[in-house]
Amino acid sequence: MADETNETKGHTCANAPCTCPVEKKNEFCGVSCQSTGQTTQIDCDCGHPDCKGDF
Ligand SMILES: [Zn+2]
Ligand SMILES: [Zn+2]
Repeated sequence: MADETNETKGHTCANAPCTCPVEKKNEFCGVSCQSTGQTTQIDCDCGHPDCKGDF
C-alpha cells in the first residue's frame, strides 16, 4: 500500500526490497522484480548496481 512517488523520477520499484527508480509507466525495474511481484522477497535479485535491496 506504499505510495512511493518521488518528485521527478516517478517512483521506486514495486518489489518491496528494491530501491531502483522506475518510470511511471512501469511497475518494476525489470523482469527479475516483475517475476517476484506475487511474493514478498527479502532481497532483490534485479542486479542493478544502484539497488540497495541486494544482499
Ligand atoms: Zn532491485
Ligand atoms: Zn526492482
